[in-house]
Amino acid sequence: MMRVVRALKAPVVATSQDDAVFPVGRIFCVGRNYAAHAREMGMDERDPPFFFTKFPGSLVPSGGMIAYPRATEDFQFEGELVIAIGRDGVDLTPQEALSIIFGYAAGLDMTRRDLQMRSREQGRPWDTGKNFDESAPIGVIHPVSQVGHIALGSLVLRVNGDVRQQADIGDMIWSCAEIISHLSHYGPLRAGDLIYTGTPAGVGAVVPGDRISVDIEGLSTLEITVGPKGN
Ligand code: MN
Repeated sequence: MMRVVRALKAPVVATSQDDAVFPVGRIFCVGRNYAAHAREMGMDERDPPFFFTKFPGSLVPSGGMIAYPRATEDFQFEGELVIAIGRDGVDLTPQEALSIIFGYAAGLDMTRRDLQMRSREQGRPWDTGKNFDESAPIGVIHPVSQVGHIALGSLVLRVNGDVRQQADIGDMIWSCAEIISHLSHYGPLRAGDLIYTGTPAGVGAVVPGDRISVDIEGLSTLEITVGPKGN
């Protein structure tokens, strides 16, 4: 059928299996999933998990450059473990949840913190602060068949080589299985979904020219350069 506008192709993410790629349907993100980060954001760490979303078109592969976005004076990094969903599933128990995971990657939930905080104060959605072009850098996805399930291990984020975030995946308030279980109660998760699982303490701002790297034990490094102010 003829298309009346030029439509975007579904984005794909590289995997560690030769030239196989992971086609992305939706991107979910968890807010506040490490106690120390919840505290640095001035919030209660005991709250149940909550979710926001990003457009799949906001993905950027490792090695790329992201423009410093418009409309912010406080562009911040959040290093995160990302879950790639490989099978559909709804209303799952935590015990069932692990079985729908295809694999894991290192990710960055890039954030216009000033816009996010303004939204939060006004009780409005976070979209302008969280969901914008190039806001979701992601590394290579490693299948569970290769690396197993990621429940422990270090997460280290560096800016220009200096350590800025350092935590253990085991410190997540809600585990990957619990996150999937919670999310699957709202509606089916589908093969192709990605879930950014939240960031530890130490978030901070970057400026044009900065190099950000995220290392999660067992996974490929994610590296991104912040480019000049965008359009
Ligand atoms: Mn985040």
